[in-house]
Amino acid sequence: MSIYMDINNVISNLNKNNMQAVYVEDRSQAIELVKEMLFKNASIVTGGSVTLSECGITQMLSDEGYNILDRSDKSAMFNADFLLSSTNALTEDGILYNVDGASNRVACLCYGPKKVIIIAGINKVVKNIEQAVLRVKHIAAPKNCVRLNRKTPCAHTGRCISDDINIGCASPDRICCNYVITAMQRDKGRITVIIVNEELGY
Ligand code: SF4
Repeated sequence: MSIYMDINNVISNLNKNNMQAVYVEDRSQAIELVKEMLFKNASIVTGGSVTLSECGITQMLSDEGYNILDRSDKSAMFNADFLLSSTNALTEDGILYNVDGASNRVACLCYGPKKVIIIAGINKVVKNIEQAVLRVKHIAAPKNCVRLNRKTPCAHTGRCISDDINIGCASPDRICCNYVITAMQRDKGRITVIIVNEELGY
C-alpha cells in the first residue's frame, strides 16, 4: 500500500474518532492552515515541541503577536482558546499516543483548551499502538532526554530499559510518567490533526 493510501486511511480513522484531520505537503502549508484556524487575540498554550519549532509555527506565533500563555499558569492554561502541540505518535487506526513527564501537555490534550491543533510530521505515523509505544521508547523519549539534559538510562543508550509500556527507569529525571491514548472523542471536532508530509520533530 502506498503512503498516500495509508494517509487516507489514517485520516478516515481519525474522522471516525471524531477528530478532524488534514494532510498537507509541507510546513508552509501547515503554517497557513494554523493561521486560518486561529483568531486575533486568541490565547494559546503550546506543548514544548520540537515539531512546532522546526515547522516554523513557534516563530509565526511570536511574529504575529499571539497571546502565548505561561505553562506554569494552570488556570489560564485550562481556559486557553487553543492548545498547539505535536504528538509522540499517530496510529493508522486513528489514535494519538503521548507520554509526558510534567504532563501539562497531555492534561490540556485531554481537557481544557477549547480547540486542540496537533501538528504531526509523517515520521510520527505508525501502524498501531504497539508501534507507538516502541516509537516513544526507542526514539522520542531518548532524544528528548538528550535535548533536555535528563540523566536517564535512555539518554545514554538510545532506548528505554524495557519495551513494556508500564516498565521504565527509576530515574528522578524520568520523562515518562503519564501514558495517554487519545481514542474516540465525545467533543467532535475539538481536536484537529494536521499531518505534514515532512519529517518533523521526534
Ligand atoms: S522510562 Fe526512563 S529510560 Fe525509559 S524512555 Fe522514559 S525516561 Fe527513558
